[in-house]
Order: sequence, then C-alpha cells, then structure tokens
Amino acid sequence: MKRTKLFTKTSKTVPADETSRNAQLLIRAGYVHKEMAGVYAYLPLGLRTLEKIKSIIRKEMDGIGGQEISMTSLQPKAVWQTTRRWDDDVVDIWFKSKLQSGEDVGFAWSHEEPILSMLRDYVHSYKDLPVAVYQFQTKLRNELRAKSGIMRGREFLMKDMYSVHATKRDLQKFYDEVKAAYLHIYDQLGIGDRTYVTFAAGGAFTKFSHEFQTLCDAGEDWLYLDREKNIAVNEEVLDDAVTELGLDKSKLEKCRSAEVGNIFNFGTDKAAQMGITFTDRDNQAKPFWFGSYGIGVTRVMGVIAELFADDKGLVWPDSVAPFRVYLVNIGTDEMVLAETEKAYYELQKAGIDVLWDDRDVRPGEKFADADLMGIPHRVVISQKTLEKGGVEYKARTSGESEIKPLAEVVKALA
Ligand code: ATP
Ligand code: MG
Repeated sequence: MKRTKLFTKTSKTVPADETSRNAQLLIRAGYVHKEMAGVYAYLPLGLRTLEKIKSIIRKEMDGIGGQEISMTSLQPKAVWQTTRRWDDDVVDIWFKSKLQSGEDVGFAWSHEEPILSMLRDYVHSYKDLPVAVYQFQTKLRNELRAKSGIMRGREFLMKDMYSVHATKRDLQKFYDEVKAAYLHIYDQLGIGDRTYVTFAAGGAFTKFSHEFQTLCDAGEDWLYLDREKNIAVNEEVLDDAVTELGLDKSKLEKCRSAEVGNIFNFGTDKAAQMGITFTDRDNQAKPFWFGSYGIGVTRVMGVIAELFADDKGLVWPDSVAPFRVYLVNIGTDEMVLAETEKAYYELQKAGIDVLWDDRDVRPGEKFADADLMGIPHRVVISQKTLEKGGVEYKARTSGESEIKPLAEVVKALA
C-alpha cells in the first residue's frame, strides 16, 4: 500500500476528553476514530491489526474443531427470560429497544442464551454431539465507565465460542483444550509471558471460572499472584480461592491486570434452566453439558498498544502489525524512486506487507510517522544508502540502523 493512497491521517492532537493512552496513540497514529466515549471506528490500519489478531484466534479455534458462525445483534426478550438475565437487576449493561409492534428487543451483550436456543434446532441426539461454534461479533454493553479507550468499549469486538457435549468428561476435555489454545494465542500475540490463567468468579459447575489476565498498569482488575506455585487469583474471589486452593495470603503479590479472556464451564445448569435437552444413548432426554469461551479482541489490541508503546508511539509485534515494513524514499531522484519501487515489489513478492511512504514530505516527517504507527521494520532508500550498496534497515525497537543489500532484508523478513 502506498501512503498517498492510505485512508487515514496521523495527528498531533487527540479529542480533549480522551484520557486513555491506548486510544490517544491509536487516534494519533490514524488507527481508530472516536465516535463518542467507549465507541471507536476502525480505519484501515486499525482494521488490519484487528484482522491479524482475528486470524491468529481463528486458526486456533479451527484447530480444536470450532466452526465459525455469525449470530445476530438483535435478540428476542423471551430467550433471556428463562434464565432471568433479561432483568436489569441481574444484567445491568443491557441496551434495549422496542419494535414498532411494541415488542421488546435487546442488543447483544452476550450470546450464551441465544446460542443454546439456536442449538435446540440442530442438535437432537448424542450422535450430533459434540458441537463447538464460534464467532467474531460486536457486543454492545452499556458500561458505566468507558475511560480505558478500546480496552473497555460500549461497543467492542469479542470472539465467543460455545460448546455442547453429551458428557461431563467430554466437556472437561474440550475446556482444557480451549485453555491451551488460548495460551497459545496470547503467546502469538506477544503477551504470553505476562498472561496468567486466573481463578475468577462466575463458575457454575466448577466453583470458579478461568480468566486470562495480562499484567498491565492500564488494566482495571487486580490480580493476586503466587509466583512460586504459579497460581493467579482475581481479587473478587480472593478469600474463597485462598481457602479452596490452600494459598498463603501473605505470599500473594498484588498486580494490576486486564482481563483478555474468560472461559466458563456451566455444567448442565444453563441448559437445564432453559429446558434444552438431547436424547442420550439410553433414550433419555438430558440437558447439554455447556461451555462458553470469550476473548476480548479489541481489548487485547488495546493491551498490546499499552504494553509496548514508547515515547515515539506504538510498537507492534510482527504478528499483529498492520504492515510489517515501512518503506521510505528520501528525495525523488530517478534512481532512488526506481530502487524504492523495486524494493516495494520485492518485499511484497516475498509475502511481506509493506507501507511505502511515497509522500513528498521531509524525511523527518516520514520517520516520525513510521515510529508513531509502530511498524516493526523500517527500510529507507536514498542516494546515500545506494552509494553504500544497499538500503538502510532499522527495527522499530532498536536505536541502531544498518546498511544492507535489499535481498538480505527480504530474506530476514520472509
Ligand atoms: P469486565 O469484567 O472487564 O467488565 P466481563 O467479565 O464482563 O469483563 P466477559 O463477559 O467475560 O466480560 O467477556 C469476555 C471478554 O470480553 C472479556 O474477558 C474481555 O476480554 C472482553 N470484554 C468484556 N467487556 C468488554 C468491554 N466493555 N470492552 C472491551 N472488551 C470487553
Ligand atoms: Mg469475564
């Protein structure tokens, strides 16, 4: 992609009401546009990063047998009434509206009840089980506070997977596979070394649910870490977990963290509550064993932005960068332009996403944007670099640049 064609603009200013660092940087670097508090639009750069995160997640979900679907944003009241979760006293973040007929509808904040209701039409017998389906879907939540940028949106992208099973054992086995897949995802996103499987509230069948918490000062949660035993507990269940897991409270380290994922084993509770059953081998109607597994896709993007950014701007790991190479020509000398054009095609031919800053602006402006946008690799071509026999290469995370033949850069990044 050529910079002169890219729909976005970097900027030195941010909306006065934006206090979160991830949103400030993402707005300045031209990744997102703020519509209102907690509501952000994604421009091409932001969307490319989201798509990279999604494809890492998608591959892992497909790998454990998940099938992608797309559920609806409008939901009927009846589906949520059976579990009492239509009530505002039970779920306090609903956006609701009415059809012209006067009928109530809700805007999707979760799909747990709707998916079970839908599965009723497709899964009748133990022979149809297990089933695991997932989606990337915008969730709408009327959050009280939205001061964490894209880490807490009133509208945000979630990957949610749901599975139903004939037996407790089968659900537990799948639950463990999801847990392992999630850890693999966070590794690939570059945050694996600071992400902990955490005991949290909300388990139905098991006493606890498992959250995936990433150590991050901009997070809104508190984590208690037993580094020796490698056990993490969310503050909200601390006393319970200390007793249950036999932890020494005085040994726990309190850290700020962000919840980047949450998985639930509901046992048969939810299906039983909703009266959703399958016919088992013994011809008996039994409720499904049900699990629900979420990753906050946009939140994880915000966490990565927060964790790696420096005073010059964003810093993306290669795996999620919108482009891997920021290509800069200095001057418009014919030879320089021809060589830059060549580099542009060579890199792309090797499967490397390149953003060529072909604007007629000062080199300093191009370098500042390369840094602000957080593109992991910078390649500069000028008369001087050509005289020295190559291109100037610099990693975003390094202060040092070096002159190399183009072929060497292509080989290293391919
Ligand atoms: P929180 O405690 O942060 O409000 P939650 O426990 O209500 O989150 P879940 O229902 O478990 O959220 O949703 C699954 C995942 O979606 C969370 O682990 C988190 O990563 C993400 N998420 C939840 N709420 C938001 C939000 N308002 N903005 C962005 N991501 C969110
Ligand atoms: Mg949660």
